[in-house]
Amino acid sequence: MYFRQNLFINDNSTQGQSIHKITQRIHTFCESLCPLCLRAKKINQMKNSFYKYIAQTSDTPIAIEVERAEGVYFYDTSGKKYLDLIAGISVCNMGHSYPTIINAVKEQIDKYMHVMVYGELIQQSQVELADILCSFLPASLNSVFFVNSGSEAVEGALKLAKRYTGRTELIHFENAYHGSSHGAMSVMGNQTYKSAFQPLLPDTKAIRFGVEGDLQQITEKTAAIIVELIQGEAGVRMATAEYWQKLKQRCEETNTLLIADEIQTGLGRTGKLFAFEHYNIIPDILLLGKAFGGGMPLGAFVADTKTMNVLTYNPVLGHITTFGGHPVCCAAGLAHLKLITENKMWENAEAIGEKLEAILWKIPHVKEIRRKGLMMAVDFYDKQTNFKTLHSFLQKGLFSDWFLWCDTAMRIAPPLIFGDEELRVIEMLLC
Ligand code: PMP
Repeated sequence: MYFRQNLFINDNSTQGQSIHKITQRIHTFCESLCPLCLRAKKINQMKNSFYKYIAQTSDTPIAIEVERAEGVYFYDTSGKKYLDLIAGISVCNMGHSYPTIINAVKEQIDKYMHVMVYGELIQQSQVELADILCSFLPASLNSVFFVNSGSEAVEGALKLAKRYTGRTELIHFENAYHGSSHGAMSVMGNQTYKSAFQPLLPDTKAIRFGVEGDLQQITEKTAAIIVELIQGEAGVRMATAEYWQKLKQRCEETNTLLIADEIQTGLGRTGKLFAFEHYNIIPDILLLGKAFGGGMPLGAFVADTKTMNVLTYNPVLGHITTFGGHPVCCAAGLAHLKLITENKMWENAEAIGEKLEAILWKIPHVKEIRRKGLMMAVDFYDKQTNFKTLHSFLQKGLFSDWFLWCDTAMRIAPPLIFGDEELRVIEMLLC
């Protein structure tokens, strides 16, 4: 029936035209039966809809359609596999689709998916996650405020610091990245990005990262300084332990709160569970996101109960969120945190990071590699070489990215489950 309907031609075409139309229709008909052609058509349609309906964040998306992800790999719709060198940007620290995490999500969904998340109701996955998290933190970090993302953790922390100190000045570093919301952007260390979205929060000030002399700009007027202990989007930049000690000392002298943004560095990525452990300092407020949700959207700001309690009164409900601390996200985060801590994944991050760095030095034209654990920047002499290398990586099935404020460097932040097998694959593909 279909055949007849589609081939029947009843118009005034010449014989040649009719034969052409028939041939075309036979072709279309055959295409409609061939699974490969159908698949190609579907992929094409998906790509077109992606460009048409999804808000584009850059003008050159890679546009690989992801079909599934497992372990250290994700797969596109043609079956090609990619070794994920960035773990969904430092999110999937235990790799993709880890069965224990998936099961925890399923179990939670079977119980309940969403009820009012904050304040009133006791939800097991939230409470257990906060409890276990605090057991791995210094005693003064004992109260967890759950949110949905890194940026929201920043927003909450800035509000908390202003409210607790009664001050308004917020200090941040040059080249800092703390998120894309208005508050987070106000403490962003990149003028080009900031000036496109003015006015932002007043009373913010940038100081230079790792420069001791600038610490005097922290004064009795400063509510908080927000820091990345290892700068991520700046291309993995570090300062000395001595510098961090001095910064903490200056905060204490001026009663300024130290906010440590561990959204990218947390959960074992840098060779410790949290990066502040490298420098022997304790922040007043700790920010978590990315890997904290084990692949689900979850963030938190953590402080001492005495500090956190200022959000309880005057006004009551001074900071609230409809979904922050969603039970399904907390179930995933809880399963993930248990896996990270029970297996001491930070130890693997350091050991494998060292071996991976040795392999990546073999890439042509590498100028410098900056690394802590499995947080790494492979820096080239210019951005063209970086983009060319990224492109050739992609063709070989190695998926990586660059940094917002450092386009000469390639981002390396693979799942912490990377082992010798993955190193062999990378070495082989690079040859
Ligand atoms: N802080 C840091 C250090 C980050 O790397 C990011 C995300 N790249 C954020 C904050 C913002 O997190 P989100 O994108 O989840 O809002």
